[in-house]
Amino acid sequence: MTTFNEFGLAEPINRALVEEKYLTPTPIQAQTIPTVLQGRDVIGIAQTGTGKTAAFALPILNHLYTKRLRPAQKSCRVLVLSPTRELSGQISDSFRAYGRHMRPLEVALAIGGVPINRQVRSLARGAEVLVATPGRLLDLVNQRALRLDQVEILVLDEADRMLDMGFIHDIKRVVAMLPKQRQTLFFSATMPQEITRLADSMLTDPVRVSVTPQASTAERVAQRVILTDKASKPALLAELLKSEAVERVLVFTRTKHGADKVVRSLEKSGFAADAIHGNKSQNQRERVLADFRAGKVRILIATDIAARGIDVDGVSHVFNYDLPNIPESYVHRIGRTARAGAEGIAISFCDHEEAPFLRDIERMIRMTIPSTNRRTGGRPNPVAAEADGRPNGRPHNRGNHPRGNNGGRGQQRGRNGGGGQGRPNQNQGGQQAPRQEATSGEPSGIGNVTFIQRSGEPRRNAGHRAPR
Ligand code: AMP
Repeated sequence: MTTFNEFGLAEPINRALVEEKYLTPTPIQAQTIPTVLQGRDVIGIAQTGTGKTAAFALPILNHLYTKRLRPAQKSCRVLVLSPTRELSGQISDSFRAYGRHMRPLEVALAIGGVPINRQVRSLARGAEVLVATPGRLLDLVNQRALRLDQVEILVLDEADRMLDMGFIHDIKRVVAMLPKQRQTLFFSATMPQEITRLADSMLTDPVRVSVTPQASTAERVAQRVILTDKASKPALLAELLKSEAVERVLVFTRTKHGADKVVRSLEKSGFAADAIHGNKSQNQRERVLADFRAGKVRILIATDIAARGIDVDGVSHVFNYDLPNIPESYVHRIGRTARAGAEGIAISFCDHEEAPFLRDIERMIRMTIPSTNRRTGGRPNPVAAEADGRPNGRPHNRGNHPRGNNGGRGQQRGRNGGGGQGRPNQNQGGQQAPRQEATSGEPSGIGNVTFIQRSGEPRRNAGHRAPR
């Protein structure tokens, strides 16, 4: 499918797409739109940024256009459940944009964190489309401002995030109120077992569609975490510098003081190292960086802020001496290796106090980083399963792994589910998402999907919450 015209969508929708300057359907759209138009249930494995909103919104609008019915009071014909206020707002905006030439078209939004009265009013006369977060939706139902027995199409978006955010019971309650005779479209970026079970309970003979995300930084870098004690970090670093085939290494610390301490401890162990951080003058920083680039200094210790401008090829390793408390910093840090498509190695030290940081990072990058336990005991270990010794981190259950050949490295598809408690380190068989196509070698399997980044929007932000 190379143009939107080929879908046979109604003229007002095609006109809106021309105005939106959408020329070519994205892979998830090419797969999903014809299936939804046939009235089939869909289970879609795709992330935000793949164009999945239009993949469900366009055929839904077509249904509303071709089957014109006045929505009953206090009800909706299409219900879209999404985990966050932000995403819900974006989805309703998309429906309005693609449906701008359709009259009448009431697109209502029911999200928490704002007064409910306006939402009650907007539903009084009924809506064609209601986009809602689960908590607020149930509040509206409980207030008798909304009935769900007229819903013709249900969309569940970002099901895995719903689960992470503890919405599963709310979703089950909502689904129990819907007519059994309906079309259901179910989207999730990952398909852990609990999501598969939820989908099975909601869908009838669904068609599966999935797309492969572009390999992100996190997927290109071989990652490991060593669970250690704070006091053991200097010795551990020295040990790794001997045992690893380190060409050029960036060692990250959280503080400037920490960076200087690492330099001193390495010097004691016989390693020449330099630090770059905010307390150094611009001249000093430039000299240190030039030495690092030229290979005169092989080991550079850096803080997050100072490292921002560092763009040096040939960094074989990134060591996170301290884990960053901001998950995004982790991705920036490890992105210093694996430049220009080359694979790099990132090894992180994680002491007891840093365990929550590790959980946040894993949630954000959606993968469990293989870990080795070098802790000496004493305090209980906050992470459940360790010492798997696998040399490479691989994504959580992404829809489809982009590599057919992973060089014999262990793949890890376990999901750090249940709100990030526990650390599965087993390959949880049977949880893999279906493959769209067999891929072999690399990078040929990468990039059968267009990722479209909304400006100013983080691709995935595990920190969203959708208060009632
Ligand atoms: P989504 O994955 O639904 O969040 O979409 C990501 C972004 O891609 C949104 O800003 C859409 O407006 C845009 N988009 C969706 N489909 C297309 C398309 N076929 N061509 C160009 N842009 C698109």
